[in-house]
Amino acid sequence: MPEHIHAASKTKWDVVIIGAGSAGLTAAVYTCRKKLSTLILSVDVGGQTILTNHIENYPGFFKETPGYPSGPKLMQIFEEQAKHFGAEIIMGKVTKVEVVNESPTPENPYKFVLELSNGERYEARVVLLAYGKVPRELGIPGEKKFIGRGVSTCATCDAPLFRNKNVAVIGGGNSAVEAAELLTKFASKVYLVHRRDQFRADEITMDKVKASPKVELVLNSMPAEIKGDKFVSGLVVQNVNTQETRELPVHGVFVEIGYIVVTDFVKDYVEVNKANEIVVNENCETRTPGLFSAGDLTNIPFKQTITSAGQGAIAGLSAYNYLMRLQGKAGIKADWA
Ligand code: NAP
Repeated sequence: MPEHIHAASKTKWDVVIIGAGSAGLTAAVYTCRKKLSTLILSVDVGGQTILTNHIENYPGFFKETPGYPSGPKLMQIFEEQAKHFGAEIIMGKVTKVEVVNESPTPENPYKFVLELSNGERYEARVVLLAYGKVPRELGIPGEKKFIGRGVSTCATCDAPLFRNKNVAVIGGGNSAVEAAELLTKFASKVYLVHRRDQFRADEITMDKVKASPKVELVLNSMPAEIKGDKFVSGLVVQNVNTQETRELPVHGVFVEIGYIVVTDFVKDYVEVNKANEIVVNENCETRTPGLFSAGDLTNIPFKQTITSAGQGAIAGLSAYNYLMRLQGKAGIKADWA
């Protein structure tokens, strides 16, 4: 999307949102409609939702409705809506967030400085963290070397590349089992490699996978190495009980072992829970005034497009209230209060 790649039109913003998934884009709709200048910095547009072909549980878009969307289509609508109300979106990876002004005043209102990996810097009165989670890595030899050359973390994106090939899917949760099911439509054989013999995935999906003659369950097994020359040619797995190793002859390895939150660049300003998720209160406030968070990276237990969007709306309104109160004005009252 070339229109996103340039630097923003200015360096000082009321609100800078990190992440352009459902939470970040929704927050932008709310802050822009409160006439707060809003910049979104993100490595992609659409977040996790664009990895889903069919959204069946986003109210307002159902199959009888014209425009019943795929994930990418739904996120395109979110993006258009945020831009329509004035948000700017810049593609870039934020590497630093710093509080440079502990006590903002009307004369000196910019509290935060953000830096991108290319050195660009932006100032903000409010920062909203909505950059979601990233796939957990296995940390085995070959994983990084073959990313994009046989190793994938996105079956929805890459499954069609493995038509009539052997593939392995690693993991025992819904992501892995859904990936395995999808891959049965393209690949000639699908090894589902799991470190235990019990799956976390929903029974209904598990049943479909077990019924497929293309699927071989490789249980109690840990991946040890991904082999190949230019492209993947095999996956070495080790049985955790017998320690025996075996090389699966595969051209594709789908790593579907859950997601983690990266918080190192904001760790001085937020509290995290055991899962390293950012702890927020019901107003999406973190422990640093002016720093808000919404979506999958927070400690809300549900990771859905609709819940992230709802939290984004709360965070946007809370950000507005915070800025009003800094100016000595009353914020918006709670709805219906
Ligand atoms: P998950 O539920 O956390 O499952 C991760 C799987 O990977 C587990 O089976 C885990 O094994 C395994 N694993 C973790 N670290 C590993 C490692 N280092 N080496 C080998 N295996 C490892 O993650 P997920 O499947 O991505 O799902 C995340 C959340 O999204 C879940 O709440 C899930 O229900 C939800 N989700 C829902 C849907 C849906 O509703 N259609 C679709 C996808 C995801 P153990 O079991 O031994 O811990």
